[in-house]
Parts: sequence; structure tokens; C-alpha cells
Amino acid sequence: MSQIDTLPPLREVIATHQLSARKSLGQNFLLDLNLTAKIARQAGDLTGCDVLEIGPGPGGLTRGLLAEGARRVLAVEKDSRCLPVLEKIADAYPDRLQVINGDALEIDPLQYLTPPVRVVANLPYNVGTELLVRWLTPKDWPPFWQSLTLMFQREVAERIVAQPGSKAYGRLAILAQWRAKAQIVLSLPPGAFTPPPKVSSAVVHLEALPEPRYPADAATLSRVVAAAFNQRRKMLRASLKGVSPDIEAHLEAAGIPPTERAEQVSLEAFCALARSLKPVA
Ligand code: SAM
Repeated sequence: MSQIDTLPPLREVIATHQLSARKSLGQNFLLDLNLTAKIARQAGDLTGCDVLEIGPGPGGLTRGLLAEGARRVLAVEKDSRCLPVLEKIADAYPDRLQVINGDALEIDPLQYLTPPVRVVANLPYNVGTELLVRWLTPKDWPPFWQSLTLMFQREVAERIVAQPGSKAYGRLAILAQWRAKAQIVLSLPPGAFTPPPKVSSAVVHLEALPEPRYPADAATLSRVVAAAFNQRRKMLRASLKGVSPDIEAHLEAAGIPPTERAEQVSLEAFCALARSLKPVA
């Protein structure tokens, strides 16, 4: 599907528009259009999908998404310096790119999107993690998105896909894996970005499952997991004391030894514990 657009190379675009990267906005740009097309392909088949892109910057990934056939791209960018550049991309792909100038943490883009929706972003890491948690914890499931394809610091990516028994395993792994299939699909060295960040990065792809892997009440599961990993070195009978006065009985009902530590407990067992605390109707 890939087609090379007729727009100028990104280095030229950045020089012409004097888009010097701002640290305060976490700007580490991807200027290699082969690489941005490759990231766009990791999002799956884009034809027939609306894509929500957060933080398009000078538009390298945006161009990849459009060239890979996205039906429409809705791009939310905080830095107004990028708007003229993004407008040129919109002109090259008539009626397929809509840009909103604003903070992704404050804007509700849903009104502009038609399902199926895929989300793709290369964002500052703190914003990315906050949005990921929001996207993973809506009141109703399935969520508005079919997939999320997001760039993270390698260490954060590893926390999302971590399995029990590893240091990286925690709340993020459980939230991500309970109702989605999460994989690291691409690793990138600092030198892939301009300017290069201090650490390596990775792209995580999450596909929403139609149903949670195991039944549980979302709020109860979230509360239990937060308490368990807040004091991850403690035995669960101690770390979860505040969750219920009968926590030992609930742990046993879920088949979890009360002396176990959070790091050793599978997603399935956490869901069983959440069900014991609050049976799912
Ligand atoms: N997607 C571009 C690329 O891959 O080259 C830019 C990536 S750069 C890491 C992050 C982008 O997110 C910047 O363009 C920055 O201005 C934008 N950004 C930062 N915080 C944001 C926020 N809260 N809402 C929307 N955009 C934001």
C-alpha cells in the first residue's frame, strides 16, 4: 500500500519552518520516512480505519499513516508551530487529515472519530503512560479503540508486556494484559530520533480483546492491584490488609497463599481475588 508522497524531506521541512525541538514538549522527532511507514504498518491494516494520532509534530508518522492507507487521521498536537507543516500534509491528502491544536490530556477526540479506530503515537513518555492508563480503564469494554500502537521508553514497554516473576511485572502489565493483547513490535536505538533521547525506545502494540481474559469487576481489580504492588516486597496478607478485614480468607478462596508477594501472582489469580472480594453478576 505504501506510496511515497510528494512532500519535501522532513529535514528540509524542519529547517524551513524553524522547528527546533523543544525539550519541554518531549520533542524527539522521527525523520526517516521509511521508519515511520514501518511503525505505521505495525498498527495493522489501516484501510477503512480512522487513526487517532497524538503528537504528530512535523508529521513524519502522520505521513506514514496516510501513505499506508488510513481512511482518516485525526492528529492532536500541542505545539502550534507545527500547524503550518501539518496543513501542507492535509493539502497533499485531501479530506483525510484533521488537526486539532491542543493538549491530548484535555481534549476528548471521540466526537471526531468514526469506528473502527486505531490509535498511533510517538509521545513524550509521561503523557504516553498517562494516556495509556486512561485508554485501558474506560467504564465500558470494548473501548473506542481497536488497537493502540505506542512508542515508549524501552523500560516502560517492558513493564507493559511483563510476566509474573519479573521485576517489571506490576499494575501496568495487569491493566494492559487483562483486556488486551500486548506485544513489543519494534525496538529503536536513541539514534533513530532527532535529537536522540538518553535511552532506547520500543513500540508496543495492543489489540483490544472483545471480552476481558478473566471476569472481574474493573474497579475492584484495579484497587487490589494498586495496593498489592504499592508494597510489592510485602506479603499479600499485609499489603492488602486495607482492602478487606478478611483478606486472608479471600486470598485462600482465590487459591493464593497469603504469604505470596504480588510479583508472583498471575493475572488469572488477581482476577479470582477480585471476584472473591466482589462477585461478578
Ligand atoms: N510524532 C512526531 C514524530 O514521531 O516525529 C513527534 C514526536 S515527539 C516525541 C512528541 C510530540 O508530541 C511533539 O510534537 C510534541 O509537541 C507533542 N506533544 C507533547 N505533549 C503533548 C500533549 N500533551 N498533547 C499533544 N501533543 C503533545
